[in-house]
Amino acid sequence: MTATILDGKALAKQIRGEIGEDVAKFKAETGVTPCLAAVLVGDDSASQVYVRNKEKACEKAGMTSRLYRLPVETTTEELLELVHKLNDDEAVHGILVQLPLPDGCDELKILDAVDSNKDVDAFHPTNVGLISQGRPRFLPCTPYGIQQLMVRNDIEISGKSVVIIGRSDIVGKPMGLMLVQKADGANATVTLAHSRTKDLAAVAREADILIVAIGRAKFVTADMVKPGAVVIDVGMNRDENGKLCGDVDFEPVKEVAGSITPVPGGVGPLTITMLLLNTLSAARQLTAE
Ligand code: NAP
Repeated sequence: MTATILDGKALAKQIRGEIGEDVAKFKAETGVTPCLAAVLVGDDSASQVYVRNKEKACEKAGMTSRLYRLPVETTTEELLELVHKLNDDEAVHGILVQLPLPDGCDELKILDAVDSNKDVDAFHPTNVGLISQGRPRFLPCTPYGIQQLMVRNDIEISGKSVVIIGRSDIVGKPMGLMLVQKADGANATVTLAHSRTKDLAAVAREADILIVAIGRAKFVTADMVKPGAVVIDVGMNRDENGKLCGDVDFEPVKEVAGSITPVPGGVGPLTITMLLLNTLSAARQLTAE
């Protein structure tokens, strides 16, 4: 059996089209243009590419984006000052602090300082708490994209056994919280696996839906996948030839899985798309207040 390819790139294009229409309607109704402020500290090349892509996507959807570039030696206090300024700026609806921050910047302190009403990455403890209680204000972009990818491809999640490998605050943990909710696009039985999990291959083989977010090239092999399972690959790594690849050994696994996301062109394009959706949602919520 060869798996169906879950095309994140095509879905991202479709959702961005929908967002563009909604932004135009929102602007016509309120006179307000949704605005995302991105803060980039230091000169990490991958971060620069991500931030540039986010800016371009905002502009294409009819939103404003602002980029604040700060030198690598910026202190926590200086960064806090900028975050407070953006919190108070009524023209800014979403604030994104690009991670990782350079050593010496207190990441938690900075993320906690972002106004939770403008926290379009959904990293603030208030927003994480609201997700946990099943009444989200924002959903974190990568898990949100994965959920949309499954829902819009008519993948049944309710009652399924979902195994997530990786327990980061950005992907694994919020993904588990979202899929275990008593809600549409959820109601799964969730297992969160990590580096201390015993017999990971056996745990992974139990999954109807296997979501992998560990950051290790081609780690998940065909023998770890139940025949017919849905396999979602979040990883972004370089293989031995420097080629972009996921955490899943795509070619052999696609012969076992029922459906699978490619890398690139799977989860990645949806992450930025959900950031746009969250920025529009923030603008709506702040304008309604
Ligand atoms: P992270 O913070 O680096 O955490 C990695 C997780 O994987 C940890 O929970 C770790 O377990 C677990 N892990 C590592 N090695 C393992 C092993 N051998 N067996 C089982 N578990 C293992 O990860 P992240 O930030 O979630 O990122 C994961 C990957 O997704 C990276 O490649 C990243 O680039 C990619 N990513 C992609 C997107 C996108 O938009 N496509 C977005 C975010 C991240 P412990 O907790 O026990 O250490």
